[in-house]
Amino acid sequence: MGETHLARRRRLAALVAGHDADALLVTRLVNVRYLTGLDSSRAALLVPAEGPAVLATDARYAGTAEQVCPELPIVVDRLVTEALTARAAADGHRRLGFEAHDITVEHHATLAANAEVELTPLGHLVEELRLVKDEEEIALLREACAITDRAFAAVLPEIRAGVTERAVAIALERAMVDFGAERPAFESIVASGPNGAVPHHRPGGRELQTGDLVTMDFGALYGGYHADMTRTVAIGEPAAWQRDVYDLVHRAQRAGIGAAMPGAETKAVDGAARDVIKAAGHGDAFPHGLGHGVGLEIHEAPLMGYDKTGKLMDRVPITAEPGVYLTGRGGVRIEDTLVVRPGGPELLTTTTKDLLVL
Ligand code: ZN
Ligand code: ZN
Repeated sequence: MGETHLARRRRLAALVAGHDADALLVTRLVNVRYLTGLDSSRAALLVPAEGPAVLATDARYAGTAEQVCPELPIVVDRLVTEALTARAAADGHRRLGFEAHDITVEHHATLAANAEVELTPLGHLVEELRLVKDEEEIALLREACAITDRAFAAVLPEIRAGVTERAVAIALERAMVDFGAERPAFESIVASGPNGAVPHHRPGGRELQTGDLVTMDFGALYGGYHADMTRTVAIGEPAAWQRDVYDLVHRAQRAGIGAAMPGAETKAVDGAARDVIKAAGHGDAFPHGLGHGVGLEIHEAPLMGYDKTGKLMDRVPITAEPGVYLTGRGGVRIEDTLVVRPGGPELLTTTTKDLLVL
């Protein structure tokens, strides 16, 4: 991975130069990980427009940092930001960019009071780089999704009347870890019966009942990459309205996925799915965006909502997750993780989307 990280830092250095800064101080840990491979709870990276980068971390991670990034000079200091700001001044950098979406107002005031450099806020430069994934990243995401599919198949026989939402959530999480996940990628959602009307319901003590729709939203974390999948199943033969809503959401998802091509406006992809739900008179029952990017974070760019701008590109992984939520009755959401490709999206989660009647 050393070569990969070096190539990423080179691309960032070019962006830094283009923003009229001498160097960028990267403080978001997920961005430091992307640029170095170091996964830690305290680190920062100085990336000059020209010349090699410098990594700072504390004594707990110094050994790991030497192993993971042997090519980088490493400053061992608890105050990683301060240490690298001083280093930037010592190396003759005058305009030091910082990640304004990460540094707090308080921290900035302290840095500015002591620094011998001019601090200049820079935007989401590393996030911009992270948008398009390389095939190495997509392979990790593909495995995260395969684990998620396998866990769902393994737990299906346990999903029945009398089992609590919490028990289903724990079974899914345990299965993902058994199949190789580092841990769940986010807090799993299991929403049964009327709870299904709450998009982000926390699984509780409610027992599944015959006649319920049950929505499960979960995913595995593998190699730092986050899978995200939702399936809604029926406990016992579904009522006509339940089948209708399920078919509607399924059709909307197909429309959304079909529109997810390189060059497509994210707004238009959202709209392709949303129009299907609107046409059926349920527009108000779909209160969130169609999906989001996934990668080293569970929610990252591009966000796909009717009010979001931007275009999809080749090798951008996204989710497509339309839902219809009917207060007091229940809901349906169907979500896949997929990668935008020139020949049409590559589905990474492959569990069936036929309505499963358990
Ligand atoms: Zn999800
Ligand atoms: Zn999602």
